[in-house]
Order: sequence, then C-alpha cells, then structure tokens
Amino acid sequence: MFARPWVFRLGVVKLDQLPPADRIEVAFAGRSNVGKSSLLNALTGQNGLARTSNTPGRTQEINVFECESAGVRLIDMPGYGFAQAPKGKVDAWTRLIKQYLQGRPNLRRVFLLIDSRHGIKAVDKRIMDLLDTAAVSYQVVLTKADKIGAAALDEVTAEVSTELAKCPAAHPVILATSSEKGTGIAELRAAIAGLA
Ligand code: GDP
Repeated sequence: MFARPWVFRLGVVKLDQLPPADRIEVAFAGRSNVGKSSLLNALTGQNGLARTSNTPGRTQEINVFECESAGVRLIDMPGYGFAQAPKGKVDAWTRLIKQYLQGRPNLRRVFLLIDSRHGIKAVDKRIMDLLDTAAVSYQVVLTKADKIGAAALDEVTAEVSTELAKCPAAHPVILATSSEKGTGIAELRAAIAGLA
C-alpha cells in the first residue's frame, strides 16, 4: 500500500472539485504546525510530498494525494486553530471541513493529529465534537513524540485516553509518532492498511 510514488493530485477549496468517491480515503487533520506535513512525508517515505513549513495557516485547501498501486487516497485537511487567521478564512475552512466530513461516503477514518507536548486543546475538541456528531471514525495520532520524555508521553496518552472514552466515534488506540525519528510510522501505516 505504501509503495511509491505518491503524487499530489490536486488541492480543492470546494467539495465538488474532489475526485469521484471511487476509492477509500483517510484524512489527516490537526492544528497548524502540529507536524502534519512531516507526518505525511514520513508515512509515504517521500520528503518533498507535503509542504513542510514553519508558516502556520499557509495551506487553506484540502490536498489530495494518490498512489497508482494503493487502494487508498490520503487527504490532507487544512491546518486549523491558527490564532492570526482572519475570521472569514476560519469560517470558510470550517464550512469546507464540515461539508467534507459529513458528505464523503468513502471517508474511512480521520487521523486527528495532536502535539504530544500540548494535548487536546479547545479547537481540537470542536473537531472531535463535529466528528462524533457526524459519526465519522477518528483516531488520535500524537506527533513530535521525540520532543518529550517517556513519562510525559505516558501522561499525555492517559489524558487523551480519558477524553476519548467519552467520544463515541473515537478509536480507543492512540498512536504516538515522531516523523523525525520514524517512531510509530509503521503502526500508522498498518492502521491505514487495515482500513483498505
Ligand atoms: P504542519 O503545519 O502541521 O504541516 O507542520 P510541519 O510538518 O510543517 O511541522 C511544523 C514544525 O514541526 C516543523 O519545524 C517541523 O520540522 C517540526 N516537526 C514536525 N514533526 C516533527 C517531529 O516528529 N519531531 C520534531 N522534533 N519536530 C517535528
């Protein structure tokens, strides 16, 4: 499934621009700067695939990645929670996300990226509520696990786990990853392969 090459197919700002729902999709969502681009690069083994940038809030589109031989599409949702984003942009983002999450029959799971150092924030909780309401399966992926120690990682995992127990659409297994060190990438690939 993770044979190469993966290619960027297109970026969309409106749902009707998406390719036909003819293969399953998994989506990646998270706050700006959570490490989403780095994770997509690590997942596909292609460093330049998703833009890695220190400029939060730059990508406002849903980006679609495909691989000829893979039975799955990777959907990169625009990063949210960028404090300086103008309200109009945030509203447009929210509309697009809601439409995608509620109206995409081939969406199998949303991987919700949470920075290991920060845990679940209010903006993340809003997305979780949306996913629970839309009954879209989602799974938390902790990012940048190399930036904290083992005890702190255990602590944040326990906190997130307690929160997820209250969320009907949440997958109970939390994946701890580091794109930098490669930690948890095989597990994430296996989780995606299990959905195809
Ligand atoms: P995005 O905005 O969510 O796409 O985040 P990026 O992938 O652009 O990453 C934001 C910043 O975090 C960049 O400086 C990355 O180098 C850094 N980063 C991302 N993943 C990791 C990781 O696993 N470990 C460490 N130490 N830094 C990371």
